[in-house]
Amino acid sequence: MKMKTDRRKFLKSIAGLSSLAASVAPGILSAKSSAGTSNARVHDIRLAKNKGYLRLVFDLKGTAEHSVFALHKPERVVLDIKNTKMSHGMVDRLQADSLIRSIRSGVRNKNDLRVVLDLSESVTPRSFLLAPSGKLGHRLVIDLHDKKKSTTVKKASKRDVIIAIDAGHGGRDPGATGRSGTHEKIVTLQIAKRLEKLINKQRGMKAVLTRKNDRYMRLRDRIHKARDNHADLMISLHADAFPDPRARGSSIYALSVDGASSETARMLAEKENAADLLFGDVNLTVEDQMVKEVLFDLSLTGTIESSLDIGGEILGQIKTVNRVHKKKVQQAGFAVLKAPNIPSVLLETAFISNPREEKNLRSASHQQKVAKAITRGVNKYFARKAPPGTWLAAYEGEYSVNNGDDVKTIAKNYNVKEEDLRARNALYADNLMAGQVIKIPVS
Ligand SMILES: [Zn+2]
Repeated sequence: MKMKTDRRKFLKSIAGLSSLAASVAPGILSAKSSAGTSNARVHDIRLAKNKGYLRLVFDLKGTAEHSVFALHKPERVVLDIKNTKMSHGMVDRLQADSLIRSIRSGVRNKNDLRVVLDLSESVTPRSFLLAPSGKLGHRLVIDLHDKKKSTTVKKASKRDVIIAIDAGHGGRDPGATGRSGTHEKIVTLQIAKRLEKLINKQRGMKAVLTRKNDRYMRLRDRIHKARDNHADLMISLHADAFPDPRARGSSIYALSVDGASSETARMLAEKENAADLLFGDVNLTVEDQMVKEVLFDLSLTGTIESSLDIGGEILGQIKTVNRVHKKKVQQAGFAVLKAPNIPSVLLETAFISNPREEKNLRSASHQQKVAKAITRGVNKYFARKAPPGTWLAAYEGEYSVNNGDDVKTIAKNYNVKEEDLRARNALYADNLMAGQVIKIPVS
């Protein structure tokens, strides 16, 4: 009896594939199953490569309604499963693949599960449910079909993690100005260039600047630049200003969807967002397609969670070079941080309105210290959580540190470069701890 119902459900979901495909916008394929609405749970995800397509299998406890659709530029496939739960680390367990750049999951409408696959190329997604058979329970199958007919297999090389560095303001928008006449737009660009150099020196990371010279740029063009370069992270650099010259210190911000974490954070976001209203020819209205897309993507809490995580790492390093305002990453609705599915943080490096900090902001050695601290923070995050398919995510083995070990000897024993071992594990100090597990990088 049970078998029969499941079989009917399965057939129904298959039938839904062809009829629904025609009813939605071009380029978007949607398939809805008509299974029950009881609570389901994903207890495993498997990935299998087949000729011409990649198959993802979600092992479910219970059945669930689902829909799948593709989004373009950047290429994504979105899977929504109704009334379904999945443990947090589930998607992280999947093996890296050259097609899937990253997999993220989040909760929608309190009970629904959303899984987003960031892809390196356009695919046609198909989905269906399989009824339990033998030892296997309910399965939701997503097939990602190649659009290209060619069967040449691309060699899966390990890509770099891309860091978009955004020097705040520029051109006719000078940003804040210090008492000695220093413009925010100048120091942010100088720090951005130093940061670019340091990041490009680091194995596994590549920097992209949103602007390379003193020119005006709309906030959304900065986001586009990051997106077009497939950035894995965007860091927007700024310098704070306050009427009271005693105000000082660094602070770091991530986007918030539920409002600002403090009144100061809200006011700061308004100030930075105003650049487009004051100097630009476009205002960021809700009608803006970009914003719509952003709001869509923000239903995934994953991006913000990652931003907070990276922000925390950077803050931890910035602490060593400057006093920090707040011990935690602050949140507010910064327009420049609204890059769809790119974790983004905004760093207020210091107060340009504070004479001492203004001097620091102009100093080459201080700028370098700040850039170094940011690089370390970024590296620390990506050594832990690099997207699948990147050099920083890959490793050939793990090594458990013994008393008296040093980085140089371990590198030599494994025949890898010391600097690669350091980059892969974000090792900046020499005091390895016994029992510490380090990853052996791929060459
Ligand atoms: Zn600014």
